[in-house]
Amino acid sequence: MSRKRATNLASSTGVSGQARDSSGRVVLCRGKARPLWFGHPWVYANAVERVDGEAAPGDIVSLVDHDGRFIGRGIFNPRSQIPVRLLTHKDESIDAAFFVARLREAQALRTRLGLPSSRTTAYRLVNSEGDGLPGLVVDVFADAAVVQITTLGLALRRDAIFDAVEATLSPRTIYEVAGGSSYAELEGFVAQNRVVRGDPGNLVPCLEDGLRFEAEPLAGQKTGMFLDQRQSRIRVGQLAGAGKGLRMLDCYAYAGGFGLQAARAGASEVTAVDSSPRAVARIEAHAAANGVPVRAVEADAFRFLETATPVSYDLVVIDPPKFARARKDIEAATKGYERLNALALTVCAPGALLVTCSCSQNVGAQDFERILAAAAKQAQREVRIVEQGGPGGDHPLPPAFTEGQYLKVLFVYVS
Ligand code: SAH
Repeated sequence: MSRKRATNLASSTGVSGQARDSSGRVVLCRGKARPLWFGHPWVYANAVERVDGEAAPGDIVSLVDHDGRFIGRGIFNPRSQIPVRLLTHKDESIDAAFFVARLREAQALRTRLGLPSSRTTAYRLVNSEGDGLPGLVVDVFADAAVVQITTLGLALRRDAIFDAVEATLSPRTIYEVAGGSSYAELEGFVAQNRVVRGDPGNLVPCLEDGLRFEAEPLAGQKTGMFLDQRQSRIRVGQLAGAGKGLRMLDCYAYAGGFGLQAARAGASEVTAVDSSPRAVARIEAHAAANGVPVRAVEADAFRFLETATPVSYDLVVIDPPKFARARKDIEAATKGYERLNALALTVCAPGALLVTCSCSQNVGAQDFERILAAAAKQAQREVRIVEQGGPGGDHPLPPAFTEGQYLKVLFVYVS
């Protein structure tokens, strides 16, 4: 990229610095290369022995093991706890063609899984490390693409990424969102919600399993919809259909997808709770658009559950935001999940299903099962796990990258 182009980029997007493939070489400490040979894409700061040559924040650098063996090329940022994120195991340039190739590969994987389809037009096209593009998420909502960038190195290469999105999807609109994350500040760039290219507009109509939604990339949360819960929402629809006239409660509902699935499947009443007025407005609009009855309530989920009639629901979903943002939060988060799950169990009628979720990466799958057991003890209810869920195939992960496993969904039978 020429210096002039880089300067323009900097002035239009609040990024200082330029996109360079540098000659810099990051050398790992002895014994620290192993996970990388197995496909783990991150280099933690304590694994770096030294940096040879010139490497500025946001540059592409080469990564070698202690004996100088080439591992790959990746994004460099010495300000980060993860100073190198690998983009490739080949000795290749990270240029416009690279991003096009990566996006086409990501698209081929989704096509193989049947996404998009006539029933589902909302899906994740790029899942960061899972698609060999650490720091990049691209969500597709019918003919709109929403891009979220979380590393300085990719922020410096925004235009090449937008070009690749255009070449792969030809969307009507490309949005860029900050996604409510603090990564930009940590990494040293400015992230904002904006229309990058194409038609402006706040609401983007799309389909999930035949249900109509309108994603809200600019004013909503994350990229505009929580696509990682699609499979669980569909499963809830199936389970609601298997019961007769169920009373359903969808807590932390956001767009209302769990409740809409249950309502369409014939639940006799559906209540969707969210503390965000914007989410409540969306739920009401989505219920009307699909011609199904959902009562949307603006409330704090804890307060709602505390005052709800005990044993009054046959299907309860709790899908809270991340309680543990960092390791130091684990203890408080554990208490929070335990209390929330105990409250949810209290409103479950005998024979109800509770679908309980945690998206805290710092609370592991086994920890979450222990939390459920403790909640059952607190609520004095007997529970059994009947199924487990998680993100769909449009959220792929390398097997060595366990840091990417964050979402846990337990389907629980409540006696
Ligand atoms: N279940 C949703 C995704 C949930 S995201 C879906 O399938 O799309 C978490 C949601 O919790 C957000 O909509 C947020 O507004 C809401 N939220 C955050 N704190 C809350 C609280 N204390 N009480 C109720 N809702 C809350």
